[in-house]
Amino acid sequence: MPRRMITKLCDECSTPFWFPQNEIKLRRFCSHACAAIGRRIPSTEERFQESPVAPQADGCVLWLGAINNHGYGRFTWSGGEYAHQFSYALAKGEIPDGCEITHTCDNPPCINPDHLIPRTHSGNMKDMMKKVRGGGQYKSGGIGNRKLTIEQVLEIRKMWGVRKPHEHRDVSQKSLSDQFGVSVCGISRIVLNKSYTRFSE
Ligand SMILES: [Zn+2]
Ligand SMILES: [Zn+2]
Repeated sequence: MPRRMITKLCDECSTPFWFPQNEIKLRRFCSHACAAIGRRIPSTEERFQESPVAPQADGCVLWLGAINNHGYGRFTWSGGEYAHQFSYALAKGEIPDGCEITHTCDNPPCINPDHLIPRTHSGNMKDMMKKVRGGGQYKSGGIGNRKLTIEQVLEIRKMWGVRKPHEHRDVSQKSLSDQFGVSVCGISRIVLNKSYTRFSE
């Protein structure tokens, strides 16, 4: 008795293909090439970009996937477990050591990279204390909180330079961090003109 052949559409390219009925559970793709593509694990970026979001009139882009208790979008990636972190890293590059990514829009589920800013943990705490207490004093200490002189800030920006592409720099943010006793995040904010903004040449 001849084996009965079944027609199916390839899961990857939608081309019809034929195979014996007893293989129905085994065959999803028309060819090895399609199977290689179809069985590939999606990249982190693909997973992120395929996640549903809802752009709002105010510019916020809300994450519609899983949300944690504090309202932050959950998304597991190599650098953390939040969607806004990955969104920032994807749009602006690596998150500097010691930095937290915080919202300028105060909207935890928002993943619009333009609403996200790196901050030192202490900077974030200060900001939170200000919001909670309406401008109370918050004492901070330790690396990352050290006050720099105008000269030091200008020196850091000069050493970092302005025109050289990142990969050709003579200094790293880490080496500046060690040299000046400020967190890498603090250095990053200085060279990006996100802190000490009054001190520019
Ligand atoms: Zn195919
Ligand atoms: Zn926003």
